[in-house]
Amino acid sequence: MKVTTRTAALKRALSDLRRKNLSIGFVPTMGYLHEGHLSLVRHAQKENDAVVASIFVNPIQFGPKEDFSRYPRDMARDRRLLESVGTDFLFAPDTRDFYPADFQTGIRVERLSRPLCGVTRPTHFGGVATVVAKLLNIVQPDRLYLGQKDFQQIRVIEQMVKDLDMPVKVRRCPIVREPDGVAMSSRNVYLTPAEREEARLLSKTLKNTAARVRAGERNASRLKAAARRELGQMRLGRLDYFEIVDAAALENVVRLKAQSEALAAVAVFFGKARLIDNILIRS
Ligand code: AMP
Repeated sequence: MKVTTRTAALKRALSDLRRKNLSIGFVPTMGYLHEGHLSLVRHAQKENDAVVASIFVNPIQFGPKEDFSRYPRDMARDRRLLESVGTDFLFAPDTRDFYPADFQTGIRVERLSRPLCGVTRPTHFGGVATVVAKLLNIVQPDRLYLGQKDFQQIRVIEQMVKDLDMPVKVRRCPIVREPDGVAMSSRNVYLTPAEREEARLLSKTLKNTAARVRAGERNASRLKAAARRELGQMRLGRLDYFEIVDAAALENVVRLKAQSEALAAVAVFFGKARLIDNILIRS
């Protein structure tokens, strides 16, 4: 695996591939990797000649009171993991090189950034869209691999790619879970054993919601009320939101309709950590 911290060096290496007409798959991450990230690399390997992964804890997607400085980092372990699955390139830019002092451009994807996580994190998706746009310009991949664990992030990036005619295909990859159902996340290390135990309620509630839909319930208010009641059992977690939205526009739905896809999404604070999870529901 070739590791670069400099934009210019990565561009040089990748232009060789492009001259040979080889396709590139790209997996952007913030590091502290787990099986969810590695599954994206595997998806990318199936469809491309070479895979580029990036590790960058992007400061502009964190709010002033969020966990940027204590976000978990372990570059040596991440390198080993990426190498073990056969990643071709790792781009791990230096923050000052990536965002020089005169950096002043931002991308905003208006409506999709506002609901769900956008309520508590109003500047988050602008930071995400901006870093992904910049990374796409550097890597110029054929395909971009994103995990459905961050479903709103996928919709924001899909919309940006469409609106700005970016020449890349966005691939949605399924959520990888721990054996007990908890969605894998770098932030799970923040949890105490008791919080980790309680965190099972997120995926359990989502599964129960999907089961209620399968059993015939179509009324979103009733589905949300039942889910919020279940989540009300938490003793350590504090519910941020449980919502049921249209899976394209991310707007609230009143009734689930046949042929249209809905998303049930949840966010819970455990201390300062905030966990998210979701499930797609077709009725
Ligand atoms: P992050 O490092 O948290 O910014 O995530 C980098 C990429 O990995 C994003 O596209 C995430 O959606 C994806 N990802 C994170 N956790 C999971 C998971 N449990 N399953 C699948 N993809 C994931």
